[in-house]
Amino acid sequence: MVDSLSTEFEKIYQHPATSLSSAPGRVNIIGEHTDYSEGLVLPCSLEFCTKVLYREREDNLVVVHSTNYPGESDRFDISEAIEHGNSQWGNYIRAMAFVIKRQGHSLCGVDVLISSDVPQGSGLSSSAALEVAIGGMFSESADLNLNSVTIALLGQEAENDFMDCQCGIMDQMISAKGEPGSALMIDCRDLSTQSIKIPDDLSLVIVNSNYPRKLVDSEYNQRRIDCEQAAKKMNVPMLRDATLELLASHRTALTAIEYKRAHHVITENQRVLDAMSALANSDMPTLKQLMSASHASLRDDFEVTVPATDGLVEICQTALGENGAVRMTGGGFGGAIVCLCREDDVALVKQAVDDQYFNKYQLHADVYVCSAGSGLKVEDIIAEPS
Ligand code: ADP
Ligand code: MG
Repeated sequence: MVDSLSTEFEKIYQHPATSLSSAPGRVNIIGEHTDYSEGLVLPCSLEFCTKVLYREREDNLVVVHSTNYPGESDRFDISEAIEHGNSQWGNYIRAMAFVIKRQGHSLCGVDVLISSDVPQGSGLSSSAALEVAIGGMFSESADLNLNSVTIALLGQEAENDFMDCQCGIMDQMISAKGEPGSALMIDCRDLSTQSIKIPDDLSLVIVNSNYPRKLVDSEYNQRRIDCEQAAKKMNVPMLRDATLELLASHRTALTAIEYKRAHHVITENQRVLDAMSALANSDMPTLKQLMSASHASLRDDFEVTVPATDGLVEICQTALGENGAVRMTGGGFGGAIVCLCREDDVALVKQAVDDQYFNKYQLHADVYVCSAGSGLKVEDIIAEPS
């Protein structure tokens, strides 16, 4: 893939690329909508990844193409104030330049070609993969030596302050720090991580509902406000600090919505802790119980599922019975679901989705059998002469 991408780069820019920055998408196994309350999450990086080929320029221009948006491009002067451009996807590159420059760093001009196989808008975080890969590029091309946590934090700032999505830190952290074959428990308060090897006998299956997502950012931002309000009324800095006892004693002080949102976050943090050992031990009954409870909580308390994702979870869970653990994954309002099961049972998931999903929801689902891929990597490349 890199060879053909290098050829494409040379066609566009009339000279070869010198470097490649790659960062993966992710699937979250459990710990949803907890990161912005400084809670716990257990995602894993995917082999789906965003590749950014680049070459430094003599001038101050950043010129960007993406194979995912053929015929479109963006360009801006890195030495001037970074404004929003006309290209929606190009704004992610501007966003990274904006937050890095805001820290006082100088950046240099680059020719850039992006190419990604991370499904976009499906809850597998193509936006974080793009931010982290672009962060790696800017860091290396300007000799900033930013570490992976710093790049993740900059990616979150880019999304919060330039793209207007008040996301937490999970997506950028796992994209920057993911490890092949492992899930990563991230403590979103101190950003410490603990890697948990995914047992060889477990398969990771993602089913993309392809439900058209709408109003995701505004609903997401509202959930964040609900959580902050609930924490404030319970006199704790963040919902991470709340317990079920504290919540019960504030039941009348909180609105019904705030109560439900807080109930989700508090119970979900505990489920992450319980899932860590269950995952490490391939303990399917416990994983099934935890992932089902997580899904129910996201449906009933956090209200981020849609009939299509609830239906997909039911279809896959029924097909797998006691031999699989299933729930929605990502921010919700559509997107994907995740199943953990034995390799032999993957066919059951595919068959059940084929047989039932379109009939019920008039949508086609995509099924991906995945492995955990590596986090951010930046390397020099020797382009093949074309
Ligand atoms: P998600 O992160 O769940 O995939 P988002 O809506 O947050 O969904 O981010 C998707 C957006 O990120 C796309 O609409 C596009 O603007 C940008 N993006 C992601 N991958 C690429 C890519 N390879 N090339 C250009 N833009 C991309
Ligand atoms: Mg995103």
